[in-house]
Amino acid sequence: MKSLPLFCVLSLLVFASSSAAAPKTQVPGYFRYSLGDFTVTALYDGNMDIPLSGYKGASAEKMKALAAGQFIDRPRGVPTAVNAYLIDTGSHRILVDAGTAKCFGPGLGLVPGNLRAAGYAPEDIDVVVITHLHGDHYCGLRNADGRRAYPKAAVWVAEEEAAYWLDSDLAAMTEKAQSPFKMAREVMGLYQAAGTLHRYKVGDGIVEGVRSVAIPGHTPGQTAYRIESKGQTLLAMGDIVHCYAVQFPLPEVTIASDVDSATAAATRKALFASLAKDGIAVAGSHLPFPGIGHVRKDAEGFLWVPVEYELTAK
Ligand SMILES: [Zn+2]
Repeated sequence: MKSLPLFCVLSLLVFASSSAAAPKTQVPGYFRYSLGDFTVTALYDGNMDIPLSGYKGASAEKMKALAAGQFIDRPRGVPTAVNAYLIDTGSHRILVDAGTAKCFGPGLGLVPGNLRAAGYAPEDIDVVVITHLHGDHYCGLRNADGRRAYPKAAVWVAEEEAAYWLDSDLAAMTEKAQSPFKMAREVMGLYQAAGTLHRYKVGDGIVEGVRSVAIPGHTPGQTAYRIESKGQTLLAMGDIVHCYAVQFPLPEVTIASDVDSATAAATRKALFASLAKDGIAVAGSHLPFPGIGHVRKDAEGFLWVPVEYELTAK
């Protein structure tokens, strides 16, 4: 057979390689972080878009400029990740929050798939700790079939948080106001009925190496979890921050979903100051995935310093 001239072969190769469609789907959303003997795996649940009009405490122009400075001032709202965290201590596998399931629409609810991609099954989880009872943190406790998503897990919620969402008098509220309370009762009720829902006093240890820390304001009993192994510490701090571009430089800015915005702002300011002083690592439910990093003092307020992708998980 007569061979083709070289330039013909090259042009065929170029044509062949340019005809394949570029992949558009994202890689699995999990990220490992070493903490002493523990392995922390960040699990991505998806993204919400939150308009800047949902925040208050600074002028609209100032907030827009801060978001634009991070290139996240988008017409549909600021992209806001939803993250959960798995702490593998060697003897326990503890899930910190459970994602949205289908409570926040079809673009989220990815925690179960990313948990499996990270090498775990839902049955491997023996403890779930919830930072607070908003749907993006607990809806993922229920499967699409209406059953417990983590059938072997004991679920732990702070006393104050459980009392607010699960025990308050619905009859004293408007029908619209009742909705998030009813949803919390439906999902947490699955674990209550199974005898695996537990309440703790804030400040208590949950399992060895995991202690609860009060961070009230966003909800009355919001709780962070201080995770420690071999002298290394990570604070899973729930919804201390929703918009990193705005609330690190201006910690006084609050979000509409705060139950008590003055307390939320005071808690955030005090926590940022202590984190900047101590230099411990943090994990935030709505910080850009994986949401792990450090907080430091900046000329104006504070600055978010995210972790790098590196081979630290041994
Ligand atoms: Zn949240």
